[in-house]
Amino acid sequence: MKTLEELQETQTQHVNDYVNNLLETVESRNPNELEFQQAVKEVLDSLVPVLVKNPTYIQKGVLERIIEPERMITFRVPWVDDNGKVQVNRGFRVQFNSAIGPYKGGIRFHPSVNASIVKFLGFEQIFKNSLTGQPIGGGKGGSDFDPKGKSDMEIMRFCQSFMTELSKYIGPDTDVPAGDIGVGAREIGYMFGQYKKIKGAYEAGVLTGKGIGYGGSLGRKEATGYGTVYFVEEMLKDKGHSFDQSTVVVSGSGNVSIYAMEKAMQLGAKVVACSDSSGYIYDPNGINLDTVKQLKEVDNKRIHEYVKEHPGASFEIGCSGIWSVPCDIALPCATQNELDKEDADILVSNGVKAVGEGANMPSSQEAIDIFLEKDVLFAPAKAANAGGVAVSALEMAQNSARIAWTVEEVDEKLQEIMKNIYRKSLDQSEAYGVPGNFVVGANIAGFVRVADAMIEQGVI
Ligand code: NDP
Repeated sequence: MKTLEELQETQTQHVNDYVNNLLETVESRNPNELEFQQAVKEVLDSLVPVLVKNPTYIQKGVLERIIEPERMITFRVPWVDDNGKVQVNRGFRVQFNSAIGPYKGGIRFHPSVNASIVKFLGFEQIFKNSLTGQPIGGGKGGSDFDPKGKSDMEIMRFCQSFMTELSKYIGPDTDVPAGDIGVGAREIGYMFGQYKKIKGAYEAGVLTGKGIGYGGSLGRKEATGYGTVYFVEEMLKDKGHSFDQSTVVVSGSGNVSIYAMEKAMQLGAKVVACSDSSGYIYDPNGINLDTVKQLKEVDNKRIHEYVKEHPGASFEIGCSGIWSVPCDIALPCATQNELDKEDADILVSNGVKAVGEGANMPSSQEAIDIFLEKDVLFAPAKAANAGGVAVSALEMAQNSARIAWTVEEVDEKLQEIMKNIYRKSLDQSEAYGVPGNFVVGANIAGFVRVADAMIEQGVI
């Protein structure tokens, strides 16, 4: 007769085989979509313990359904540039999962956008949105349009054309997009205007990240960056550390990065480096955030301009070099796969204590493995950067109720949500025997809520 341990081992082996089969299906159904395959693998591998304990999820075909988008929309986006020439881009919207609410997730404008990028982001969004505790499903969208170097009128014409098509598929109770890389308040404004014109109705809740004067939420702009720092601060606190007096490196200099730097500084940290896609700046005296904001939020300039105003600082070409700057806390806040195995090795050898992902999937799987192996506190994107979409859900709530909360009210709710995400992820990591592994904890906590809802709603 087999012992209990032997039975459990056999069961785990069965589940591993089942997961590996599913991953093979994902690879053959989505060939060349490497980012999507990477995101699915990371989630499914970490769900093995929950599947062993709850075989219902397998029996009810939850995983086969959750890895397949409910709907994937691809469309032509024609627009006319300032020289009168017709340009054509490709638009995407993936409506991945609506088990717990309308599809919700940002829109990205960047030349690298393709079906794989949109699907990886949409898949991650399912679990992230679930973790927030808010009633929002998973979606994502974008275009391979490059906003760099375009005039304001070109941006407007592109946004209008993009929304002319997208408007057929979204709505306050259907699918609610927001910003992401290359899409900020200006682009959201142009898209909202076009949606309103097409619908002939003021459906404020159709987009989030709107301007404050027409239905946006105070605190939304800051939410992702602040939320990431709130999550990491909780993690540090449990180990007797904090941002106070710490040296911090933050990649990127966009929306997430700027407000992660701001909150880290407010908590007493010294931020010494940040970047854009051309390279990074290092300022041993601590980055002057007013200069970065002026360059990036107002003047639309490159980050190397920083050193003109701060001669003590230096600029290095290339992005990944930023991880060689010694720091206690690293916050990758730029883009996917920006921190690889070599970067992780350097960070560890320089004594990094914590890594918090402000961007989506910025660390490669090998890099994550190194952090976990070397006991570096690691906050995965799904949990750490969920503050942005959480406040987007608060924006939807304010729009529905036709009220506006103060910035203090929103920030208080954001802090509460981030603490809850931290607690849920920690609890699940402990329940499944890997205490402090927030990758496993966050994936399981996010999955269970969606999976249970899918089972209750039948096979659809
Ligand atoms: P922004 O467009 O505001 O900023 C992106 C920043 O990253 C810019 O500084 C950009 O530099 C830099 N960057 C882009 N591509 C690269 C690259 N290949 N190498 C190095 N740097 C690069 O975007 P966000 O701040 O909104 O988004 C950043 C990340 O956070 C993304 O992964 C996004 O999905 C994620 N995120 C965003 C949320 C939000 O609320 N905005 C919510 C949750 C996650 P450059 O200007 O030169 O292109």
